[in-house]
Amino acid sequence: MPEATAARRFTLQEYKTDQHVDWCPGCGDFGILSSIQQAFYQLQIPPHRVAMISGIGCSGKTPHYVDTYGLHTLHGRALPVATGAKLANHELTVVAVGGDGDGYGIGAGYFLNSGRRNLDITYIVFNNGVYGLTKGQASPTLAKGLRTKSMPEPSIQEGINPIAVALGAGYTWIGRGDALDVKHLVSLIVEAIRHRGTSFLDVFQTCPVYNDLRTKEWYAGQDIGRARLQRLDQDPSWDPQVKQPDDLAEVVQKKVRALQASYETGDRLSVGVFYKIALPTYEDQMAEKVPALKDHPLVDLPLDQRDIEGLLRSFE
Ligand code: SF4
Repeated sequence: MPEATAARRFTLQEYKTDQHVDWCPGCGDFGILSSIQQAFYQLQIPPHRVAMISGIGCSGKTPHYVDTYGLHTLHGRALPVATGAKLANHELTVVAVGGDGDGYGIGAGYFLNSGRRNLDITYIVFNNGVYGLTKGQASPTLAKGLRTKSMPEPSIQEGINPIAVALGAGYTWIGRGDALDVKHLVSLIVEAIRHRGTSFLDVFQTCPVYNDLRTKEWYAGQDIGRARLQRLDQDPSWDPQVKQPDDLAEVVQKKVRALQASYETGDRLSVGVFYKIALPTYEDQMAEKVPALKDHPLVDLPLDQRDIEGLLRSFE
């Protein structure tokens, strides 16, 4: 594929495949897909410099629809595969995608441990509160007491707070968007990809087929007479950036404020950037140990056949 040059820019169409998008009509996934494609277009990242990695679920189909390299992997395994792709070629822009069941349920261990590594990757979660692909069972984010139309009884488990978990896990950029506000979501994805380190973006996503509670109208706040989603950046005092990463008091203060914002529920839900901090990436630290990685990604380093044979013999 060609590189973007001053004379030739990639078109938005070049980030789209010719595959039929088979999500249900009205699904919030369409807004997220469009936002990802528009973000790549705004950033003018050559499509062949991007790897999209997904798990299993309706959102797992996303790499099929974005004309970059992509891998549709196993349930809950998007993050470890994305980690491997980035370690093999740190020059790639790596974006992992998946649903809330995929990432916060079966992939929960990877969600935690990816936060503390700080590889320069982006993780986008399509959060609709249900397992849509398997007909609407409650996912880890469905709040206690809610009963969607495919559930026989209301949930008797608490829903998790993904922003709070990400703060504790150590993600260095944490945000939340809305699939129905594409303009804002594009800006969040652009910022998440630009951030050097692991970015985590939770996205409220409507599933009109199985989640009849968290609907477009509910997010719009029709029942309370005003918008339920409030943008953090509309508060002049809101500043998610840690200025002195070595200052533990400031880090804690920013995390506590982000935590409080993430727990606003019911009549107000915050969207925007909750927290960001500049810290050395995993790749930076690896390059200190293996200086050749400063000039070349691992995939370009010459293989020493003798070393590999010796390594293999050690397992005999
Ligand atoms: Fe979207 Fe729900 Fe249909 Fe899946 S089941 S494609 S999440 S509307």
